[in-house]
Amino acid sequence: MIPGSFTYHKPQSISEASALLASLGDEARPLAGGHSLIPMMKLRMATPQHLVDLGGIAGLKGVTVENGTLVIGAMTTQAELIASDLIKAQAPILIETSLMIADPQVRSCGTIGGNVANGDPGNDMPAVMMALGASYRLAGPGGAERTVAARDFYQGAYFTDLQPGEILVAVVAPNPPRGHGYAYEKMKRKIGDYATAAAAVILTRRNGVIADCAITLTNVGETALVAEEAARAVIGSALDPATLKRATAAAEAIASPATDGRGTAAYRTKVAGVMVARALRRAFDRAANA
Ligand code: FAD
Repeated sequence: MIPGSFTYHKPQSISEASALLASLGDEARPLAGGHSLIPMMKLRMATPQHLVDLGGIAGLKGVTVENGTLVIGAMTTQAELIASDLIKAQAPILIETSLMIADPQVRSCGTIGGNVANGDPGNDMPAVMMALGASYRLAGPGGAERTVAARDFYQGAYFTDLQPGEILVAVVAPNPPRGHGYAYEKMKRKIGDYATAAAAVILTRRNGVIADCAITLTNVGETALVAEEAARAVIGSALDPATLKRATAAAEAIASPATDGRGTAAYRTKVAGVMVARALRRAFDRAANA
């Protein structure tokens, strides 16, 4: 279908963009790569009267390190993340995850900011950001700035903590410890599909056992989910079968997917458990034994 008509704006600065969004109110939406928003507009599931294109704002692009912490500009594309040596060295889970998003065409336009601000539980990056303990830098009208933890940002499907006039300017991801283990495991029906269920794991190993662990889930709830009980279950273990089973069961217990074209709720819940088990094993094998 053809989207409804809209007025196109192309601000040149963050302050100009947030002032525009604030003055245009609910009828306006930021436009990043357009690979979630434009399909929604074509389906008439979104009918904004104004699109505020963030593509002209130079300060929103690129990966840098500030005080040892990764700062990823919101308009950095998934393809740019994959090609980044800094990301490869400090948070390789972002490359593994980006490579599982859609296909090269989508990844060359889709941005990290759009992926995490969209609020679609099917997006892959929110769970990974929660596992990394990342935060989002937000800029509002009049130069107001604040930072919100990814774990506090999501309120429901397509509902986030973004306030009127705010844009997400950067993702700030603390470096996981050197030698950490990581994995993102995603079950999808075909290339270009969203997850039936997926799991992210970041862990560290000390003296042969897991010292710290974060486990998060994609597309089995209204938002990405933090599987705290599952993570607690594996700490202090070397991932013996009984522990793995307990962790899997704990992750399945918090999953509440809908029955849809990807399978029944019961099937998708089981897939979430399988993804957690696979991600834990792979992350454990990858982790250096400190
Ligand atoms: P846009 O579509 O431009 O924007 C998305 C939403 O976020 C809009 O509401 C917009 O207003 C808002 N927004 C964007 N940037 C900002 C900002 N800086 N501040 C505030 N609000 C902002 N994604 C996955 O995660 N996994 C997949 O498997 C997957 N498969 C896909 C398959 C296909 C065929 C397609 C077309 C897309 C797929 N996507 C998938 C989505 C893709 O990754 C999107 O590009 C991404 O979700 C949104 O990024 P974008 O830059 O395109 O944002």
